[in-house]
Amino acid sequence: MASCLIALGSNLGDRHAALEQAVELLRQHPDVELAACSRWHETAAVGGPTEQASFLNGAALLHTSLSPANVLTVLQLIENQLGRQRDVRWGPRAIDLDLLLYERQVLDTDRLQLPHPRMAWRRFALQPAAEVAADMVHPTIGWTVSRLLEHLDTAANYVALAGSIGVGKSVLAERLAIETSARLVREPLDLKHLATFYADPSSHARQTELEFLRQRTEALAADDTAWTERSVLSLSDFWYDQSAAFARVWLPAAEYPAFRQQWCEARRHVVRPKLLVLLEASADALFDRVQRRGRRCEQHLTAEQLGSIAASIRHEVRETYEGPLLVASADDFDATYRETLAAIEAMR
Ligand code: ATP
Ligand code: CA
Ligand code: CA
Repeated sequence: MASCLIALGSNLGDRHAALEQAVELLRQHPDVELAACSRWHETAAVGGPTEQASFLNGAALLHTSLSPANVLTVLQLIENQLGRQRDVRWGPRAIDLDLLLYERQVLDTDRLQLPHPRMAWRRFALQPAAEVAADMVHPTIGWTVSRLLEHLDTAANYVALAGSIGVGKSVLAERLAIETSARLVREPLDLKHLATFYADPSSHARQTELEFLRQRTEALAADDTAWTERSVLSLSDFWYDQSAAFARVWLPAAEYPAFRQQWCEARRHVVRPKLLVLLEASADALFDRVQRRGRRCEQHLTAEQLGSIAASIRHEVRETYEGPLLVASADDFDATYRETLAAIEAMR
């Protein structure tokens, strides 16, 4: 028998009755044993059309002999039975049943993703989930449900954007900061120096990367009281660990270990984000974007270099980042903006 964690939500019609009926239908299913059910939590709607009614959310722990795909089928049949209409994304619904976790399975198919890709930053999912499956482990983050929830309460109120040159971090950060009244922590860019650097990376890389490291360490100093201000979100258009990722590409291999040592040391004194947003784009798309924005200093950058930086950042995320991660495509700015905004709202 496999354990799986289900999220339930409703914000249309008799919400309470819909949730109770969904639980009853799960209980009656011959291949499902209902191990635990949370209480119902009143939560504000997140993402989707504005001014929609608030939700009742809950979670259930099931034991089942069904495969993950068949659990999803059962959930969708129950949604249909209870009159779920599928129209607007994140719009009002009589019932929504999501499969959050199935043992420690990781799946990425068109129909089913496991773990549920947005669960790690959704307070409305984690709070009830912690009542029924506090010790279940999120397999890609490696944290339990209760630790994920605790992270929302204890981590600095800070979101970092990561990605290669030209991926659109600054524009996204600016738009989000306006919408959420966030404090924007910007990468200081010395374009004149960057022009010299990009024209001949090998002879300026060490000095440039050390300067970036110094600036980032200062901007993200953990002892700054701004991070503990619960009501103000901070948002940076860079990620501290980009330093290591960029240096891996730009520095001569022999110089990298010493730089990494220095980065590692300095990193102990900087704030860690509550959420990391990784913007992705192909090497060719990055090249197009950099060409289009037409900064003089970036005219020497090749698609290959931009692709290497993107790959190095992905590598760094895999190797060193611990915590909630939102991976978004730079190709659809509006979708990424909405997704990130919804994530920020969901963490509150
Ligand atoms: P969100 O997924 O952000 O909570 P939603 O629940 O409103 O949004 P739906 O319209 O209910 O989204 O579902 C969209 C699609 O998501 C479904 O057709 C389903 O196939 C797919 N899906 C992928 N992974 C899962 C999962 N783990 N649980 C439920 N649905 C999933
Ligand atoms: Ca959902
Ligand atoms: Ca759903």
